[in-house]
Amino acid sequence: MMIKENLSKILDQLPAHVKLIAVSKTKPVELLQEAYDAGQRSFGENRVNELVEKEALLPKDIKWHMIGHLQTKKVKKIASFVDLIHGVDTFKLLKEINKQAARNERVIDVLLQFQIAKESSKFGFDMFEVEEMTNDPEFFELKNVRIVGVMGMATFTSEEDVVRSEFQNLAEHFNALKGGIFRQAEYFKEISMGMSGDYPIAIEEGSTMVRVGSAIFGARN
Ligand SMILES: *Cc1c(COP(=O)(O)O)cnc(C)c1O
Repeated sequence: MMIKENLSKILDQLPAHVKLIAVSKTKPVELLQEAYDAGQRSFGENRVNELVEKEALLPKDIKWHMIGHLQTKKVKKIASFVDLIHGVDTFKLLKEINKQAARNERVIDVLLQFQIAKESSKFGFDMFEVEEMTNDPEFFELKNVRIVGVMGMATFTSEEDVVRSEFQNLAEHFNALKGGIFRQAEYFKEISMGMSGDYPIAIEEGSTMVRVGSAIFGARN
């Protein structure tokens, strides 16, 4: 029952244009089913094996989001069903997603992950690397991936100013791309930012997609 209440409490705070991705990593399928029964359809996982196992057990109309760091060699395991890959952080990974999507005769939506936190442990492009990639002639040959926006994770800190300025930084990257290389792409519209601890700030700074785990399912061990 608590999951349903948590979900509606969060949904009450989200403007209509902001999508809630329920981050269910480490949680058993029973709890995902509970969220599903409460109406939630988009779920986020950060490990390929866990994502594949859960997908097989749960209803087929779930939209599965891969939110974690994705290894190139594991793309083929999720290419047939994944709805959105949030963490594209290298050209090599993007090319592999394109290849596996083509094999499955589909187009896979992805987000470019930017490194916005000061913590060097986090993955992601910087703007220079994205420009380098988008200047590569090979980039335009990728017909089976669609870049629909950007994603980032703020520093894990209680200092609101730090988190806010990192989210602003991601929104600036988004706007630069939106006004540049993606200016013709009406589908380039997503900014995936905000987790349990910081999603209200993320929304104020332009998030269109929040990835919320513990505030829905409880703390992970
Ligand atoms: C775990 C995770 C989340 C959700 O974290 P919570 O603090 O539990 O809301 C969001 N995004 C990514 C990439 C994650 O790995």
